Amino acid sequence: MHSSDLRALDSAHHLHPFTDFKALGEEGSRIVTHAEGVYIHDSEGHRILDGMAGLWCVNLGYGRAELVEAATAQLHELPYYNNFFKTTHPPAVKLAEKLCQLAPAHINHVFFTGSGSEANDTVLRMVRRYWALKGKPDKQWIISRENAYHGSTVAGMSLGGMAPMHAQGGPLVPAISHVRQPYWFGEGRDQSPEAFGRTCAEAIEARILELGEDNVAAFIAEPVQGAGGAIMPPASYWPAVKEVLAKYDILLVVDEVICGFGRLGEWFGSQHYDLEPDLMPIAKGLSSGYLPIGGVLVGDRVAETLIEEGGEFFHGFTYSGHPVCAAVALKNLEIMQAEGVVERVRDDLGPYLAERWMSLAEHPLVGEVRSLGLMGALELVADKTSRARFDKRLAAGNLCRDICFASGLVMRSVGDTMIIAPPLTITHHEIDELVSLARRALDETAARLAH
Ligand code: PLP
Repeated sequence: MHSSDLRALDSAHHLHPFTDFKALGEEGSRIVTHAEGVYIHDSEGHRILDGMAGLWCVNLGYGRAELVEAATAQLHELPYYNNFFKTTHPPAVKLAEKLCQLAPAHINHVFFTGSGSEANDTVLRMVRRYWALKGKPDKQWIISRENAYHGSTVAGMSLGGMAPMHAQGGPLVPAISHVRQPYWFGEGRDQSPEAFGRTCAEAIEARILELGEDNVAAFIAEPVQGAGGAIMPPASYWPAVKEVLAKYDILLVVDEVICGFGRLGEWFGSQHYDLEPDLMPIAKGLSSGYLPIGGVLVGDRVAETLIEEGGEFFHGFTYSGHPVCAAVALKNLEIMQAEGVVERVRDDLGPYLAERWMSLAEHPLVGEVRSLGLMGALELVADKTSRARFDKRLAAGNLCRDICFASGLVMRSVGDTMIIAPPLTITHHEIDELVSLARRALDETAARLAH
């Protein structure tokens, strides 16, 4: 089928996620046809460096034959069976074991889901169930952060702190409260980063006291807030947050959907920040995005209570631990281990990207550059000296994103924050190409904004 026909059919019938349907109708969509390594190809013959690893998920890169073979073999062997009513199958069992080997020592159980959103729904129910079983049914409030993304189901978006999402689709799940995010560049520049990190932790404590210290069940956050803008917290933040949570006996939920599986140079982002989460929702990089699968890694404290005192947990999904998805996820983790992917991000690719990416700090359009592991962000500013933002109506970030795309790089914009999170298999040469494409796009964005 010709690409213009595909575009027309797409506009006629397909409601895309997170998209202005009407605007898409006018512009049409880019049709991605195939991909290899870190590059995607479209129906017009363009090759584009995927600086976002799909949606932060294609950690091993595109075109890994071993993953295709694992899926095919499992489809032949057992394409589906469930994990309900005392049945299971080898891929789910082996994947559970592998995950618990890779996770921090206090985590020895996993509950499978089909996605990250379902994982966060599961978290919400587990957390409240845990406290009910502990005889503290008033511990229901969950504290999350403004601008956080934890998924698109009703529970996921309620846990998340994205105002435009909250404004659509009716009442949110009750007893979820949002505190400020440790976004120093955007919100904390009247203090030093370290002081601001502590201020944000104090805001959590203040909210706990406001809600009643016996009423707060858990705090949920990503190690680095991803979709919110690749926001690496000041070094003071996590140690201070840990202290507050310990003081009031509040569970820590660390959403590893983006940061897990090597993105920050450790198997889990929690390990980078020395966190001991009670629960870790996972998805995305678990299967390198080849098939949909998620889960919740459950620490001993919660698992023991659910197992010993819980009776039946009335929760689960048809595709919890789907055998084909689990087989692909297992193979994905085995390859990552065999190839030392995580260690390479930590010791080689992460530092290499950081050095190249940081060179963009000199650009007149850039007010701050951040980088950790294979995640990076650029803050676009109208004035380099004062670091004042552009007028929102200029949509400078979207302009830069579109220029990037047209010139062969996927770089995402969140407002005027530009983000990258390439496949973890990217080479030095490809990192050089990514940074040089980004630099050229910044030049062109600056030129276009000047007119
Ligand atoms: N949690 C985080 C931190 C995410 O970034 C996402 C998706 O981007 C989710 C949860 C939801 O995952 P899914 O889209 O698989 O439902």
